[in-house]
Amino acid sequence: MEEYLTNYLMKHLPSTEQWVKELETQAKEDHIPIMDPVGINFLMQLIRLNKPGKILEIGAAIGYSALRMNEANPDASITTIEKDDIRYQQAVKNIANLKKESKIEIIHGDALEVISKLGEDNQTYNCIFIDAAKGQYKRFFELSMPLLEENGIIISDNVLFRGYVLDPNFEQPRYKKMVDKIRAYNEWLANHPSFITTILPIGDGVAISYKK
Ligand code: SAM
Repeated sequence: MEEYLTNYLMKHLPSTEQWVKELETQAKEDHIPIMDPVGINFLMQLIRLNKPGKILEIGAAIGYSALRMNEANPDASITTIEKDDIRYQQAVKNIANLKKESKIEIIHGDALEVISKLGEDNQTYNCIFIDAAKGQYKRFFELSMPLLEENGIIISDNVLFRGYVLDPNFEQPRYKKMVDKIRAYNEWLANHPSFITTILPIGDGVAISYKK
């Protein structure tokens, strides 16, 4: 069922421009984990519907999702954070190649430090997209929460991590710790008094948290 569903959804995705295909190829060749096609399509639709004026992304990688969010709402100002040196350089290049520097600012650094700095500078956002180290999602959320405008949303990717998160018999030692952390994060999100959260089985699992 799950495989049929993914294949069916993939077949009905909108067509993409050449630059999108090229970035997807670049990510595949360099083994860089970017959002999957169904997940990014959903994120873009949310952005089209919600039209957030200011977006903060935690985890830029090569700039793929930031550029796709810009495609969904060219008016939005996007700030994205990446700590890896090589990926940061690739993102800078990709954003410059598409002449999107005026709309997408990329900050090189550890989001745990950068978010606090953005807070000190009184920066606020209508949408925050968390797509970085899975074990630190709670920390990213807590740090960025004060930067979120009233009625803003926080989107967290990979919250069902390959379906492992919902498998009660999941025991693979390699991922056990991370899966336990994501489970704890989902529980915490679901019970957060200031947010209403919906978890959707789209892509790798997407949580949408709406600030009350
Ligand atoms: N959002 C990107 C996309 O779909 O195109 C993919 C992001 S990738 C899944 C996660 C990225 O987060 C990696 O490039 C990793 O280096 C970065 N990252 C992990 N922990 C981070 C941190 N604490 N601060 C900044 N970046 C971080």
